[in-house]
Amino acid sequence: MKITSIKSHVLRYELDKELGYSQQYYKHRTAHLVEVETDEGITGWGECFGPGNIALANKYIVEKVIQPLIKGDDPLKKEYIWHKVYNLLRDSGQKGMPIQALSGIDIALWDILAKKSNLPLYQLLGGKTNDKIPVYGYGMMLQKKTVDELCDLFKNEANQIKEKNFKAMKMKIGMGPKEDLKLVSSVRDTIGSEFKLMVDANHAYNKNDALYVGKGLDEMNIYWFEEPVAPEDYDSYKELKQKLKTNIAGGEAEFTKYGWNQLIKNNCIDIAQPEVCGLGGITEYLKVSALAQSNFIPIVNHVWGSAISVAVNLHLLTTLPDMPGGLFPTKSMLEFDTTEKNIFITDLAEEKFSILDQVKNKNGFASPLENIGIGINPNKDFIKKYEYNG
Ligand SMILES: [Mg+2]
Repeated sequence: MKITSIKSHVLRYELDKELGYSQQYYKHRTAHLVEVETDEGITGWGECFGPGNIALANKYIVEKVIQPLIKGDDPLKKEYIWHKVYNLLRDSGQKGMPIQALSGIDIALWDILAKKSNLPLYQLLGGKTNDKIPVYGYGMMLQKKTVDELCDLFKNEANQIKEKNFKAMKMKIGMGPKEDLKLVSSVRDTIGSEFKLMVDANHAYNKNDALYVGKGLDEMNIYWFEEPVAPEDYDSYKELKQKLKTNIAGGEAEFTKYGWNQLIKNNCIDIAQPEVCGLGGITEYLKVSALAQSNFIPIVNHVWGSAISVAVNLHLLTTLPDMPGGLFPTKSMLEFDTTEKNIFITDLAEEKFSILDQVKNKNGFASPLENIGIGINPNKDFIKKYEYNG
């Protein structure tokens, strides 16, 4: 079997209203799909993390840098291809865009293997350890509003997420230490003291401000404090982890087993959030997962992007063992977008795929698709309609 072509599709549409996180506001939603064709007529699909115009740069890396290196190679030789590409790009990028680009290609190679094997992806990853995965809703994004206005919006949104049956929810913070505590406290009051609530600062803080916020969170029964400080600031991560009761979560901006090894060795996190579409694909995710498991760090995948990313993550999560296991283990969760209708999730696939319906009908749980491969094949007309070339 041979790889005959690798194409990138960057999709984009304008949102009704601007959304944001601690680093920026954005008006467009993007997704970056990768299509790998073979001489046997099997096509694999993958996805690269990287929002906005970063996706355009990644498209260039996929098509103009990586494609010439591996065109003609056997797509089933995933390890060989991963290491060949990583090794040739190593001097120019051990993290960031080259690895995001490689991730999408690697995922497509797994889709090809699963399609050739006539099995759903999860069977190749070890089979199911859990039939259904609890789903948490992320939403409550920042907007250009005052803190008081945002408190009202967040309360509303928190109620909606709860009503949709999600098992837990996550809100953005990063407006300033005092403002953040006000925001979190208003959501906490709205949903009750026991509902599982997480907060995400997207590395808005230095260590001392993060400590101030974290101490406030410690009093509000918050399940995790995500990306409190810059991803490369291992020392602050370590200190926060030691001093705060609230779990420290992170890793969405960490890459490959090499980067993850440092994050884990430096004792930075209580909860690992690997991003399969960014850290190097499924081939590398499995190694990062083994690293986290061997250090007894629970994994709750970071999920961003289209239905492809959601479907892949369901396959990964369904095969992930409970850590450490028992009659009443703390389960991993699927992260799911609850902001205004995300058509890249709801309308992309040829197959029927609705997490929202599953969450609603299965009391907050979702299961992977039983179709062969990843289980999702994007509709070509949909791609045409939303394709964006800059
Ligand atoms: Mg995050």
